[in-house]
Amino acid sequence: MKKQERADWVRHQLASLYPDPPIPLDHRDDFTLLVAVLLSAQCTDKKVNEVTPELFRLGPTPAAMRDLGEAAILEIIRPLGLSKQKAKHVAKLSEMIVDDHDGMVPRTFAGLESLPGVGHKTASVVMSQAFGIPAFPVDTHIHRLAQRWGLSSGKSVVQTERDLKKLFPETSWNELHLQIIFYGREHCTARACDGTKCGICTELYPRRVKPVVWNKP
Ligand code: SF4
Repeated sequence: MKKQERADWVRHQLASLYPDPPIPLDHRDDFTLLVAVLLSAQCTDKKVNEVTPELFRLGPTPAAMRDLGEAAILEIIRPLGLSKQKAKHVAKLSEMIVDDHDGMVPRTFAGLESLPGVGHKTASVVMSQAFGIPAFPVDTHIHRLAQRWGLSSGKSVVQTERDLKKLFPETSWNELHLQIIFYGREHCTARACDGTKCGICTELYPRRVKPVVWNKP
């Protein structure tokens, strides 16, 4: 199969496996999604979902979160990795949203990426999942699977995002990034497979015998 054929085949497979993929991070609105995504860095969504009910009860809006303050935020999110840095970023970004954006989460990449702790991947998740604007956040699962499926060289996450955006229609990006993550978590984990076991790789690469070596982000 050619690269575009592989991409089309994967897209149809994933659409039938995950017809309506849910957003894995619990949230109430765009602000709480932004905070949840920031908290999920180097941490599982499950752990984030354990601390956010209390955090969002006490800090449901940017103003309330700012008033809650860094120390109280830290107490709530302490079970997560990098909690000190994350508490600092959540307090500061809440203050900036109130002071610089009239209390509204900015709807642009530039606005989002100007907030502390918000990089391109976090901004892409918020653009996609909160605002429905086409984006293709590339996390470690997507970076790995794109290489195993021969859709990107895996030179960098920036390159992977560029490659996938070229191969998939823009209307599919928002669902597709979630579908790839679900497939990665369920079937195609970092250690459990070498690229020769399940139906996707055997369809894409029927003659593959050597394990796939992939580049980490
Ligand atoms: S064969 Fe392995 S690497 Fe390929 S899609 Fe299936 S689980 Fe992933």
